[in-house]
Amino acid sequence: MSEVYAGSEKTDLTSCDREPIHVPGSIQPHGALIVLQEPEMKILQVSANTGALLGIAPDELLNQSWELLLAPSDISFINKQILTKHLEATPYYLPLLGAGKSGKQFEAIIHRFQELLSLELEEKPASSDRDEGHIEIYASLKPILADLQTTSSLSEFFRMAAAQVRQFTGFDRVMIYKFLEDGSGKVVAEDKRANLESFLGLHYPASDIPKQARALYVKSWLRMINDNDAAPVPIVPSINPLTNAPLDMSYAVLRSMSPIHTEYLRNMGVRATMSISIIQDNQLWGLVACHHYSPRYVTHPARMTCEFLAHMLSLQVGSKEALENHEYIKRLTSKHAELVRAMSEDKDFFYGLLKPEADFEHWLDAQGVAFCIGDEVKLLGATPAEADVRQIVAWLLEYSDQEVFATNNLAAHYAPANGFRSTAAGLLAARLAKLKPQYVLWFRPEIAQEVHWAGDPTKPVEVGDFGKRLTPRKSFALWIEQVKGKSAPWKDCEVDAAGALRRSILEIVGRKAEELLKLNAELERSNVELDSFAFITSHDLKEPLRGIHNYSHMLIESYGEQLDGEGQQKLQTLMRLTQRMESLIESLLYYSRVGRAELMRTEVDLNNLVSETLEMMQLRLQESNAQVHVNGVLPNVYADAVMLREVFENLIGNAVKYNDKESRKIEVGTLAATGAASPVFYVRDNGIGIDEKHHNDIFHIFKRLHGREQYGGGVGAGLTITKKIVERHGGRIWVESTPGAGTIFYFTLQREQE
Ligand code: ADP
Repeated sequence: MSEVYAGSEKTDLTSCDREPIHVPGSIQPHGALIVLQEPEMKILQVSANTGALLGIAPDELLNQSWELLLAPSDISFINKQILTKHLEATPYYLPLLGAGKSGKQFEAIIHRFQELLSLELEEKPASSDRDEGHIEIYASLKPILADLQTTSSLSEFFRMAAAQVRQFTGFDRVMIYKFLEDGSGKVVAEDKRANLESFLGLHYPASDIPKQARALYVKSWLRMINDNDAAPVPIVPSINPLTNAPLDMSYAVLRSMSPIHTEYLRNMGVRATMSISIIQDNQLWGLVACHHYSPRYVTHPARMTCEFLAHMLSLQVGSKEALENHEYIKRLTSKHAELVRAMSEDKDFFYGLLKPEADFEHWLDAQGVAFCIGDEVKLLGATPAEADVRQIVAWLLEYSDQEVFATNNLAAHYAPANGFRSTAAGLLAARLAKLKPQYVLWFRPEIAQEVHWAGDPTKPVEVGDFGKRLTPRKSFALWIEQVKGKSAPWKDCEVDAAGALRRSILEIVGRKAEELLKLNAELERSNVELDSFAFITSHDLKEPLRGIHNYSHMLIESYGEQLDGEGQQKLQTLMRLTQRMESLIESLLYYSRVGRAELMRTEVDLNNLVSETLEMMQLRLQESNAQVHVNGVLPNVYADAVMLREVFENLIGNAVKYNDKESRKIEVGTLAATGAASPVFYVRDNGIGIDEKHHNDIFHIFKRLHGREQYGGGVGAGLTITKKIVERHGGRIWVESTPGAGTIFYFTLQREQE
């Protein structure tokens, strides 16, 4: 990196953030700096090396005109061609200038800042190997630009740019370094001398490039260090007489580096660097960072070319990134449509998503997915354990009412997440219900897990001459420390995609519920029709039946003696059958009435209702030596009291009836209520029990398990009517039984929680 700072136990990183790197008070020794006051072009400050470099000592130069330094023809050229240009905070490359006593040729650059003109003269070493003129360089730029524009993927684009910069500058290593959201950075492309270890993919902590350095990089696009080991040269005088302050060198290319940065580079074995900013929307997107392991001078034409390439990168990076994001968004959207189809086709949407062909796991760029629907939890890919997922969901329900919740640092919100950050440092959650724990969750692992080390992290780096204090490896350890618990951040398009999926799920669930409602309504209608059919037929049958009964009675009374024994007996049977027929019809009528009558719901104290029922049944209970015990206090319910009495009468009646024990024991009570669940009532007996195979039949009308006269007779309608009443209240009834030992009937009076 250029101008990167590594932290160590001994380095106070916040002090790095405060270090005034734009006013170092010195420059690199291969050049000279002349600070001029316009318009008279009086020399106000110079670097202390002018004697050596230009043959004129600082004392001789200060307060003199620049005519002492430059040839009149150059001065007139600069006055006419250069000073008329926009130089404010904009360094301008000059053609080669002859300067100083001997008129030696220098590469020169000039800019204006805070009303001071800075002329920087750089001595080009005779050996600088890249020495093409402007024309040649621009000629070779053309095909490069065309190539850059046609690269399809971002990584290829960066790789090409790095290779081109290296070709122009001859640096040992050229990297494209990208800043991530948290200020840390990553090497996204690299071109290097073959025998160097690769830094590609490495992450660096935000503190490697302190805040004020990043601010400076937005202003001034290019920085370079010719020789990191060369001693800096002070500027004299240190305080500028015009501004009364040290010289602000934000835009000076000769600016010397901070001691911390110098040490950092030394630890990496780096002697020369150049870095050019890549700016996107006025933000520092990244850097073109060049390293050389020996001193290196980059000629002005090569620098200009690299700057030009960096500008190109700045312009292209946005559109290329948008394009790459666009591809991802396109994939998310087209797959979304497929997911909707899969969800619609299945009874439950999430079974649709879970089908292997839906490949839901790879839809969004996450390592794991969990569905939490009521009690059910389904996990795909790398997720925390089921119990942990349940707890996340319980926490989330309380913590956030956002429809989509996204974090790349779950542990910062929910401390227990520290325990499973290797799978869920990042969480994206789409909430499917307001009050119920229904979610789709996506997980991302801690980012440190994804760091690509460029070698064995415990092995000392072999390149260069390393200092004892800071090494890039330590910089790594620090970074790992910083990102603990964090995952890669969720992109806006991913949060949007989760939101869109959530809406589709709700729509599908809503549509299915509507279909169900329609079905229920149809069922209800057919039930009502059935009820009225039962009413009409039973009602119409009653009259003729009464007639048959009366006629039979009359026959026995008036003509009985004329019939023989067998005839009389048959008439008796006919009468009995009509009686039974009548009671069947009565039950059917009653059943249909229960189905049709409007529910008269009131607040009912069940303790009263049960004790009244028992009072009514008192005689029956005494006769059969039955004892009914009410366990605990029964709750109040909102129900039709008359119908509810019928329920208890039927169940207690049966408990007494289907019981052959000496002492018949019946218990009535409520199961311990769990949370908001509706109460479950029970009637338990120690009677004959019911074989499991009949547990459904007994609720069918006229179904009896015993002979007509056994166990006190009956028509087999009691339980059917009971079931109807319970269901009309929105509840359900079921049975548990051990033949020979007893039976328990359970029922509820309202819809249970789903
Ligand atoms: P009924 O009592 O008129 O026969 P029900 O509909 O009340 O009609 O009961 C249907 C059948 O279920 C009964 O014939 C009996 O065989 C069985 N049954 C009901 N309650 C009990 C019970 N508590 N113990 C054992 N069997 C029972």
